[in-house]
Amino acid sequence: MLLTLIPLLVSNPAFAWKHAGYAWDVSDACDAADGSADDGLLRRCWDMDDDIEDSLPEGYQLEAIQYGFDAWEEAAQCAAIANEYTGTSERGQANAGDGGTTVFWDDPGDEMAPGVLGVTYLVTDNGSVIWNGQRYMHFGDTDITFNNDVDWGTTDDIERGLCNQESAIEGVATHEIGHSWGLGHSCDEGEACADSTLKEATMFWQVGACDTSQNVPNEDDIASITNIYGPAIVISGESPLQADDRTGAAPFEVCFSVTVGGDDSVIVSAQHWVFGDGEQSDELNPCHTYTTVGQFSVSATAEIQSDVCDAQTVTSTQLGYVVACDVPAPEEGADGFFEVKKVDGLSYQTINHTDLSTYGCVDTIQWEVYKGSAEGDIKPENLVDFNGADNAGGESIGAWSPKLEFPEAGSYVVVMNVGGPGGVAAGFMVVDAADGGGCSSVPNSVGMSIAGMMSAAALLLRRRNTRA
Ligand SMILES: [Zn+2]
Repeated sequence: MLLTLIPLLVSNPAFAWKHAGYAWDVSDACDAADGSADDGLLRRCWDMDDDIEDSLPEGYQLEAIQYGFDAWEEAAQCAAIANEYTGTSERGQANAGDGGTTVFWDDPGDEMAPGVLGVTYLVTDNGSVIWNGQRYMHFGDTDITFNNDVDWGTTDDIERGLCNQESAIEGVATHEIGHSWGLGHSCDEGEACADSTLKEATMFWQVGACDTSQNVPNEDDIASITNIYGPAIVISGESPLQADDRTGAAPFEVCFSVTVGGDDSVIVSAQHWVFGDGEQSDELNPCHTYTTVGQFSVSATAEIQSDVCDAQTVTSTQLGYVVACDVPAPEEGADGFFEVKKVDGLSYQTINHTDLSTYGCVDTIQWEVYKGSAEGDIKPENLVDFNGADNAGGESIGAWSPKLEFPEAGSYVVVMNVGGPGGVAAGFMVVDAADGGGCSSVPNSVGMSIAGMMSAAALLLRRRNTRA
């Protein structure tokens, strides 16, 4: 006997269990019949189609579904979920996108293959919802259909030994309701599943006849649903000097904090931070100064407590979260920031050798060309057009490696400014541009000289203030 469902499974390699990629939002919570709407729980209202199939004792379908919903609430206290049965309905069709959760007993579309016990339809409204820093597709609808060609047995009968190849209705209900909360399978058909915790999970893809082991969620199931809806931490950090920014010039200080998701009573009692550069801290909301250049992942582990669940330890990681930069420099082994090679006539090609090995540390490039043959000729009155356009007074462009079209034969100073969070640098090169000659065979021979690198770019027109 198989249990199946439709969802696209999204696996997270950091955990054994999987999520279907769908979740409910707090705004989907419905009111409890007793008026306890403000208990901070994510409560889902559900109903049953009124066409009740009769292979179970009268009224038992409702008991079985109520059992399945309650099993999740009781097992996964930290997930802070709840449910409310609202009666029978006449929806008539599963997967209807009506925003509710309806349980069907007569397989209205007769869609189920032999051997399939139940199907949960997961429908998104194309919105999304974020729980604990992870984005899920937002549920528009979930419906559960049981196969009316299956012989169902009650857990009571099965556990008393009265089972003749029947399937435990409570266990299948709990499994399908797990899907309707957004869970995938702990292991799927055909997947290696060495861990017994996964095989014994309610969300395992298969269950045998006369087997009640899926009735109650196990630790893997609980971890899965708690990961979506339970308390967790989300790391945030910013530079005290550059609000909402985590990229800057080394030494670069970033102050970190966590926000906690879950029910309203969750508090954080301890934190441990790993900053990614070899340094750690046990402060609650630490500030850390990055002295080395690079891109750093940051992890926080927190002890959290709430009224609805026991103390637990949760960890969150932000990959590549902080970038500390130096002033831009040429890449290792390069002879300078750039080269210029002749293409044809007065057309030349620049080749940029700026070091890009730390992502985010170069964000501005500015090229200028001056008439002249020395650094001293880098003056506004010497600016020339170099890109084929006639812009009186010269031009500058921000391309990474532009083509240069010198206006006439002669000597020019080509300047590249390069900026980023770590500061501004520049290089220049004197090019003796000679008209004529195909010369693609000797691209390096066209009378250029590397005049050297300028340091802090005192002559340059563009700069940014990054060292606040
Ligand atoms: Zn399933």
